[in-house]
Amino acid sequence: MDRLFIEALPIIRKLKEHNYQAYFVGGAVRDHLLERSIGDVDIATSAKPDEIQQLFPSTVDVGANHGTIIVLYKNNSYEVTTFRTETGYKDYRRPAEVAFIHSLVEDLKRRDFTINAMAMDDKGKILDYFEGKKHLLEKRIMTVGNPHERFSEDALRMLRALRFMSSLDFQLDYKTEQAIKENFFLLEHISVERKTAEFVKLLSGKSPQAAISKMLETNVFKCLPFLEQKSGGLKTLSNLEFRHLQTSAEYWTLLIRVLNIINIEAFLRGWKLSVKIIQHVKNNNEVLTKVLSRGWSKKLVYQAGLNQSLQIERVYQALKNSKSQESFKLIEQIYEELPIKNREEIDLSGHEIISIMNKKPGPWVAEILCRIEEKIIYGSLDNSNKAIKEWLESCKQK
Ligand code: ATP
Ligand code: MG
Repeated sequence: MDRLFIEALPIIRKLKEHNYQAYFVGGAVRDHLLERSIGDVDIATSAKPDEIQQLFPSTVDVGANHGTIIVLYKNNSYEVTTFRTETGYKDYRRPAEVAFIHSLVEDLKRRDFTINAMAMDDKGKILDYFEGKKHLLEKRIMTVGNPHERFSEDALRMLRALRFMSSLDFQLDYKTEQAIKENFFLLEHISVERKTAEFVKLLSGKSPQAAISKMLETNVFKCLPFLEQKSGGLKTLSNLEFRHLQTSAEYWTLLIRVLNIINIEAFLRGWKLSVKIIQHVKNNNEVLTKVLSRGWSKKLVYQAGLNQSLQIERVYQALKNSKSQESFKLIEQIYEELPIKNREEIDLSGHEIISIMNKKPGPWVAEILCRIEEKIIYGSLDNSNKAIKEWLESCKQK
């Protein structure tokens, strides 16, 4: 059993000591069977939310009415969810009502795909009622039950199917795929935030190209913000190698480039991204434009800093479909050799400039600082208080 499961065992054992049923469920069980590193350990139990809260001293109520309580235990947090069925799906979104139940099988039945609908008990025994293990071997994504029904209950599952295609490098089961083709338009009813979360996971998976191609084939792309008219760009994206990208800002930077997005702000807002990430992507894009036209320079690496330069280089290489370790080394070398890494390191303050020049403070101070900065970066001026003062004096005399 994985260390993360072992660490969570006391929670399952405690629930069982109090005569409740409790199992590991969902993605962690799937990833354990795939011998992949597991993510969040989720637990399902017959105990009701208030009963869970009574048993554990440290909990967070994140949705007790839907049955989910977070249990904090030894520096870890676990989602502990009461067995439930879901009814009253409205508008093709998540259910309006949930009913707490005592049956594990019924709880597993409401889950999206067979590979996500297995449970594991505290001895490591797998409970697999829907052929999940077989489908893992076949690398098959298949809904639990009739795909049409499951997608009309919650249309997001269609996008999730594509994201699991990417993150696991699996194929869609034939009937599941047909049902996506027939029901893709229901995704219109799903909130942007839920789509964005799945889409980012799709882009950052093992096999995003295949999932993007399938997104085009099934028409799912038509229901994603600002993508309806972008089938050409998406086709291009599906032919690029970008699995070396690391941060979500990198994926969004690549996307706006490949899709030729003019109003970047509106596009990213349309995906409901945070102000922080929007700013980051816009900034990446500006630097990338310069790199595309003139290549890397000392000044660009200095302005962007090492981390951002490497991020932008990864996007650049994705756009150019190139794989050059040399470029990363070159950027690192340029950065290493920079005499200063930021403006604060200049060995002369604004006050000193004002007193040497003997002029009233004004925008000219920043301009001079910029010149000093550039001269230091390019090595024509030493970053020493004395040298900079001498240079300033020589300017004064001109
Ligand atoms: P990951 O490792 O990428 O987080 P995951 O399988 O854990 O994958 P989550 O989105 O964290 O995916 O969901 C946890 C589990 O909850 C899933 O494995 C699945 O059993 C169930 N689930 C999540 N979303 C849905 C949904 N929209 N419909 C039905 N079941 C769902
Ligand atoms: Mg998860």
